[in-house]
Amino acid sequence: MRWFYRCPGCGAEYDIEPGRYLCDACAARQEPDRPLEGVLECAWEGDYSGSPDDIPLPVAKEHLPPLPVGGTPLWEPHRLRAETGYPRLFLKDDTCEPTGSFKDRASYLVAGFAKERGISEIALASTGNAASSMSGIGAAAGLKITVFLPKKAPVAKRVQVLQYGAELREVDGTYDVAFDQSLAYSRETGVLSRNTAYNPLTIEGKKTVSFEIVRDLARAREHEAKRAGHLAELARKDFVAPDHVFVPVGDGVIIAGVYKGFEDLVRLGRIQKVPTIWACQAEGSSAIARALAAGVFGEPVPSDTVADSISVDVPRNGAHALGKLKAHGGKAVVVTDAEILAAQKELACKAGLFAEPSSSAAWAGFVKAKGAIRADETVVVMLTGSGLKDVAGAMKGLGL
Ligand SMILES: *Cc1c(COP(=O)(O)O)cnc(C)c1O
Repeated sequence: MRWFYRCPGCGAEYDIEPGRYLCDACAARQEPDRPLEGVLECAWEGDYSGSPDDIPLPVAKEHLPPLPVGGTPLWEPHRLRAETGYPRLFLKDDTCEPTGSFKDRASYLVAGFAKERGISEIALASTGNAASSMSGIGAAAGLKITVFLPKKAPVAKRVQVLQYGAELREVDGTYDVAFDQSLAYSRETGVLSRNTAYNPLTIEGKKTVSFEIVRDLARAREHEAKRAGHLAELARKDFVAPDHVFVPVGDGVIIAGVYKGFEDLVRLGRIQKVPTIWACQAEGSSAIARALAAGVFGEPVPSDTVADSISVDVPRNGAHALGKLKAHGGKAVVVTDAEILAAQKELACKAGLFAEPSSSAAWAGFVKAKGAIRADETVVVMLTGSGLKDVAGAMKGLGL
């Protein structure tokens, strides 16, 4: 299997090298205040010789850091199933990643790449979770991490960064300002950038969730077949693709990674088709949903939502994510802050899963969109961050 970068826009190919981030020709079209142009994707050719449970990645396994990233549980929330009337509803719980968020999947691959290439420092901008994630994963890997974080990031995420021993550069401004400052730093120093979307490995790292979902759905089918005594079902070895996946969306990297995972799975012949993916956005930060409706990105609108991790003015991976949504018939659903906070409370008190507001947006999205979904379909809702990361946000939902 040979790995390289490919531009989904023009098809140009590049070697996977530390200084390579964007497609030269497409990045030249970049306009201010618009999603990144020229975002690259990891691509592969040749045969894959791994076992069916393995996930093909562009970094050799022995370089991945020594901590347990991924392999998160797929919940079968009985009370929520009964109340919503969806017996094949599952929750993919990434709140229990080592640093408490889905971002660990990206940090893990970027850290592995750094180790493989003998790189000692990584820099990034973040609204909070990417910073705490890269700091923790970097600590386990023995890497120096420099983060650019807006001053108003939730305190738990800031404390995580400092506990993990990363260098914290607080930014007097938004995430968008932090993004530019961190890129300037990487350019001046030559330090590897883990900026989301900008570094293609951040997208690739996130695809692992799709591989886990199809494997764990096959296991769930096996348990079900055992319970029911269905021998023919029990003998099946194929994977199970969900019909619908609900994904919280800010910059659009997670959703692009989820798509990449399902695309790889189809290409490897492990599933037949890419599921319907729902981009769940907060009303106060809905650039990708608006672009899907309009066909193109418009002027940026200042973001304002309780869900800090999906609050972005300009979604960095917007153009790439929009391309995937259009190509696969993906959908968008927009939810209000009140719906997000109600969803957070519902997940906590009916499933025992305490997720931060951003990921509760995915549950709120399902609740809002389920009229369009048949009761016998398989639905996975992705919960991407722990509620303990933003206690102040959760207090709003309790009226405290
Ligand atoms: C970053 C993040 C998201 C959104 O991911 P994007 O790639 O920015 O769309 C959702 N939930 C949590 C917990 C996050 O940290």
